[in-house]
Amino acid sequence: MIYLQGIKKSFNQQQVLKGIDLTIKKGEVVSILGPSGSGKTTLLRCVNYLERPDVGTVQVGEVQVAANTAKKKEIISLRKQSAMVFQNYNLFAHKTALENVMEGLIVAKKRKKGEAQKHSEKVLERVGLLDKIHYFPSQLSGGQQQRVGIARALALNPEVILFDEPTSALDPELVGEVLSVIKDIAQEGITMVIVTHEMNFAREVSDHVIFMDNGVIVEEGTPFEFFTNPKEERTRKFLKRIS
Ligand code: ADP
Repeated sequence: MIYLQGIKKSFNQQQVLKGIDLTIKKGEVVSILGPSGSGKTTLLRCVNYLERPDVGTVQVGEVQVAANTAKKKEIISLRKQSAMVFQNYNLFAHKTALENVMEGLIVAKKRKKGEAQKHSEKVLERVGLLDKIHYFPSQLSGGQQQRVGIARALALNPEVILFDEPTSALDPELVGEVLSVIKDIAQEGITMVIVTHEMNFAREVSDHVIFMDNGVIVEEGTPFEFFTNPKEERTRKFLKRIS
């Protein structure tokens, strides 16, 4: 479903991704772990070209984009393959929960308003927010706002959902409700890539774990292998530090 080849990315003089190769199969739930600043978010953003790689090829589903030849049209079709859930929710402040979810369906998917509304209500119900559909983001808790963010991604019915530290802006008591919604979705067979600092969650929900440090993938494997028998010294150090 996702195939990354030789991805490199620098900001100013700093090389943040140093040649990433990665394959993710359809239906897999993959967590990207690693210290702050190791390049996790940048890598995730390269998957939909929110960051344009300097070098390398990104393929999602049938759509392949090479950094050196990328055309606007290709980037638009690449973006249609995935939906992103952002750390800070990125909701429209002047739109209700329902309107936030409908927006993508009407603009990107060209759905009729009535149809978009019905579908959005269903998806908001799935994330437990049917009673809040007419609330504005400012009237919702952080956990509820993020669940709107998740509903917005789900409504688009993408091949892949990309989660960029979905709970890191939340107060600790609100993390659980968001993780539980993500866990539910994970069981439905949609391909998911999750950048997270929630180790217990990653262990529970992932089929596959990727550990990044300093712009490279240091180690990858099943959660069981990774957490109970890490092969690399850098992984062991990381796990020790956060335990
Ligand atoms: P992580 O997600 O692992 O914390 P990031 O991918 O967010 O790491 O960042 C990796 C490095 O790239 C950091 O040093 C960060 O400051 C830098 N960086 C990320 N985005 C930008 C940007 N838009 N401009 C300049 N530097 C950036």
